[in-house]
Amino acid sequence: MRTPDDLTALFRANQLKVTPQRLAVFEALHGDDTHPTAEVVHARVRERMPTVSLRTVYQALNDLVDLGEVRAVSVDNGAVRFDPNNSGHDHFVCRDCGRVSDVTASRPRLVAATGGEVLDEGYTVDTSEIIFRGRCAACNA
Ligand SMILES: [Zn+2]
Ligand SMILES: [Zn+2]
Repeated sequence: MRTPDDLTALFRANQLKVTPQRLAVFEALHGDDTHPTAEVVHARVRERMPTVSLRTVYQALNDLVDLGEVRAVSVDNGAVRFDPNNSGHDHFVCRDCGRVSDVTASRPRLVAATGGEVLDEGYTVDTSEIIFRGRCAACNA
């Protein structure tokens, strides 16, 4: 995860303007492991920039996703949550409280759904993401 200063350099290297909005969006998300929605990030940014629109926040988030600095995670019914932790990790989504937790899982082998043929050899995996759904420890307690 980068600091806002590193991010400025990265934006410049990618010919993206370092706008106050983009920086404010990154700062609002930086170090946050709760996987907020764009609406939650928007509310935070508005505390500092009352006129910033949700659309601008979405665009800034999508720029950060395109740069690989932020992950977009689809957790439920198409709702996208944003994650400044861009390391490889998986997610557990609690069906009761909605909390999205960072987890890691070992990677299974790729096996054809029909026939059980192992596909590892012919396929190259660029990214993978496992979403576990169930009840979190707090909800089970
Ligand atoms: Zn829960
Ligand atoms: Zn995460």
